[in-house]
Amino acid sequence: MRPELETQLLNCRNLPSPPGVALRIIELAQDPDVVMATAADTIGLDAALSARMLRIANSPLYASRRRVENLSQALTVLGLNATLTLALGFSLAQCGQGSHPVARERVWRRSVTAALASRLLGQHAGLRKAEELMLAGLLQDIGMLALLEVLGEDYARLVERAADNAELLAAEREWLGCDHATVGGWLARQWNLPALLREAILESEAPASDTPFNACVAVSGHVADIWLAGADASRSEHAHRDAAMQAATRLGLDYASYLALTEEMVSALPEVCAMFDVPPAPPARIQALLDQARELLVVRNLREIQEAARARKEADEHEDRARRLAEEVRRDPLTGVYNRSQLEEVLEKEFDAATRHGWPLSIAFIDLDDFKQVNDRWGHLVGDEVLRNFAKALLRHVRSSDIVARYGGEEFLVVLPGIGEEAAAQVVRRILSEVSGVAMADVGGQPLHITFSAGLATQGALEQFRHVDDLLRAADEALYGAKREGRNRVSVGAVGG
Ligand code: GH3
Ligand code: MG
Ligand code: MG
Repeated sequence: MRPELETQLLNCRNLPSPPGVALRIIELAQDPDVVMATAADTIGLDAALSARMLRIANSPLYASRRRVENLSQALTVLGLNATLTLALGFSLAQCGQGSHPVARERVWRRSVTAALASRLLGQHAGLRKAEELMLAGLLQDIGMLALLEVLGEDYARLVERAADNAELLAAEREWLGCDHATVGGWLARQWNLPALLREAILESEAPASDTPFNACVAVSGHVADIWLAGADASRSEHAHRDAAMQAATRLGLDYASYLALTEEMVSALPEVCAMFDVPPAPPARIQALLDQARELLVVRNLREIQEAARARKEADEHEDRARRLAEEVRRDPLTGVYNRSQLEEVLEKEFDAATRHGWPLSIAFIDLDDFKQVNDRWGHLVGDEVLRNFAKALLRHVRSSDIVARYGGEEFLVVLPGIGEEAAAQVVRRILSEVSGVAMADVGGQPLHITFSAGLATQGALEQFRHVDDLLRAADEALYGAKREGRNRVSVGAVGG
């Protein structure tokens, strides 16, 4: 972006901006520990927003079987992300009202249509982030609203006159040296929006996307253009073909899915328009669009679209296989938990993050007791089975954000991010008491039980290790302490560091 434009944007008083409530919700949405009650308190501050949330929680898009009676029930139905989408959407719909109404309506209608398209495309592509997709779809054209405020009448004329989005983009680049996606990305950074949204906005006009999420958002703009193409049949046919091709090449959607998507758009769009105060398109026009999708696509473009969808699917499968292979390389073949080299990589990242943010990080070195005897008495195959079952038991007893790795032989390492020494000791003691009570193998009809010794160390309030190796060493020393004291116990590293 040219520095003059940035200065203009920085000095512009009427830039679209989320109100305090929305800003607070943006913060809340990024905090993994936030509870619904906090969000309800925040939204409760804004009576108009609360009333909308209640209405929308009872609308068909989110409907639950039970009628939603109060704000906290509404938030439970909607979830934090939907709440954020709606709160931002409402406030943006309000801002700048009155100036350049024709251009504004055009931009806002595209945003709202794209929001729905992005959500539906995500469903067809098998992505789970429906609310984030909807929000990114809604915000992708926020740069246009900003340019309307900064450049006024000149930009409004450009928006009104451009035959379609491609023409608008070309004119923006010619005039400003950048496009509205760049401006939108800049604004998203000013607002401190999550990186996922910021990247999607920034990439919304790029010819290719590097994630399926960004692809959904970018394609949603093309889908929205169909609804803005006006009554001219050849223009809307062109828009249909473009959207179907984009969906095929970037998301692997075949013709049947594209048609299903168009039908879903037709049935849900009036409600989404009502949610964001956009006047609905006339029913006759909607019917015409649907008919066009059915007829024109079949006759003229079917083969092209199917071919593009097939190619995309193949490329995706390729990527999936490559990802699975890479994942296998990270895992210990016997037990399926992380191997040592992968452990070292993740542990170092966790250690750096904990040190930087000042949150605790605990690790536990776990070594099976008298494991050599298991091999000597029952053979290596039984030993292997014990190791496999033990790893499974460990995974069952820790949280999904914890990391379990095989350090080597019969030694495992458990990484517990965000957990201080006392809580970690409790976790590992509980694991010891539960695991030692369960048979790890069956030998001649008899259950085989094992115990372990564990050494704990924590990067946290009591001690600060300079390097991740120092943390590992402290846990290892604690483990030796546990062995010396007679095994079958958990020992916490000495304070110091
Ligand atoms: P301690 O309580 O002091 O830890 O005694 P221990 O017998 O468990 O310790 P030691 O280090 O003497 O023996 C570990 C044994 O683990 C020796 C080795 O054969 C066995 N082992 C290491 N990797 C594997 C494996 O992949 N499969 C099997 N079956 N055994 C293994
Ligand atoms: Mg050992
Ligand atoms: Mg051992």
